Amino acid sequence: MTSAKKTTMKIVHAGMGLGMKAINIPRPVLYEGPGSSGKLKDILEAEGKVRPLIVTSPGTVQRDYFKGIMDSLFENKFEPVVCGIINNDPDIAHVKEIARMYRDEECDSMIAIGGGSPMDAMKGAACLIARPRSDLRKLKGLMKVGRKTPLMIAVPTTAGTGSECTIAAVITDETKNYKFTVSDLSLCPKYAILDGKLTVSLPKSVTAMTGMDALTHAVEAYLNAPYHKADTKELCESAVSKIFKYLERACQEPEDIAVRQIMLKASFEAGEAFTVACVGYVHAIGHGIGGIYHLPHGQCMAALLPLVLLDYGKAAYRPLAKLATRTGVVEDDGSDDRKIALKFIDKIRALNRSLGIDPKFKDLRPEDMDEIARRAVKEAVPLYPTPVTYTEEDVKRVLALAMGD
Ligand code: NAD
Repeated sequence: MTSAKKTTMKIVHAGMGLGMKAINIPRPVLYEGPGSSGKLKDILEAEGKVRPLIVTSPGTVQRDYFKGIMDSLFENKFEPVVCGIINNDPDIAHVKEIARMYRDEECDSMIAIGGGSPMDAMKGAACLIARPRSDLRKLKGLMKVGRKTPLMIAVPTTAGTGSECTIAAVITDETKNYKFTVSDLSLCPKYAILDGKLTVSLPKSVTAMTGMDALTHAVEAYLNAPYHKADTKELCESAVSKIFKYLERACQEPEDIAVRQIMLKASFEAGEAFTVACVGYVHAIGHGIGGIYHLPHGQCMAALLPLVLLDYGKAAYRPLAKLATRTGVVEDDGSDDRKIALKFIDKIRALNRSLGIDPKFKDLRPEDMDEIARRAVKEAVPLYPTPVTYTEEDVKRVLALAMGD
């Protein structure tokens, strides 16, 4: 990218940053702690709702904690309707089906109990309930919903996406294997419940990958200084410090509810941070790969994070060094920013290794590279105020590294 273009991007991001700072981004009312999912009935009662549509996955429906939540709702005379169709990455057909069910069953509110996939499916359906004649694809991008959505309550069962507090819904267009994001203030759930007991059943691999997703949110948001608000940096630092301290333990001791609770909080903090500051090329490239190859989102994030950070080069050394030392991930021994930033990137690689996450994408097909690069640039430019603005050629350079060249 020429220096004239770099200057233009800086000006654009500074201007957009002013706009972002002026927007009052909603935050959910938060209930947290082991057993806090028991608050659902109180929330519904306080909101005067009786018939929530529960958006969840087939696996979750079978779990004891889910049955417990349902029993408590039925006992308290609520009439929940369960839609347990979302496994991974909601697509447009799923979202339409959920919106149809909401209308046909005359529901008055929505509760997502699950990972990012059910939470985003709920949000996607909320868009179609607010705008019944809209094509979801046309709502892609920022602030296109612009209407009141149903009451949404998010109960995450993974600790990674932060979707319970973000204004984003990531949906797959199944006709093109294309992941796109709808972002609107009306998509932030009104309530979020972080109940560590609900995540103890997560398999080690999902715990690991989703935790690395949360780490990616925090690190990418930290680098996007032009959009930061007063507490954005602190949220990122808090999330990064928790993840480095506790993610391995969450994998090794899956039933340690206190650790699970901390990981949920880290994911929430990272979600709040990137809702304000956006993400970067790890996400922009990862969405392209995940959409085409149907790989878990967290795996894409984990593998791409060190590659992209290294590729940003000196533009990212200073903030990465600050993040590394303030969180205690790298000791501040007086080394220069470059050395500390590189040590931090090494720590991420080491974490991936210890979690057993494959650092490469060996099955990427060369013929898909142009499309992934095109999509990544379209997603990131000019919205994401990243330290470096990539061209399609830059993305392809990172993809070559990701493939193991
Ligand atoms: P997921 O929701 O797809 O769940 C992954 C797997 O874990 C599924 O098979 C699910 O059934 C299982 N699972 C979930 N909770 C479980 C539990 N407690 N015990 C056992 N198994 C459980 O995974 P995810 O990483 O949470 O979400 C990924 C999706 O979220 C992607 O589509 C991604 O693009 C999206 N996303 C959205 C945002 C946002 O802000 N809206 C941010 C990041 C990612």
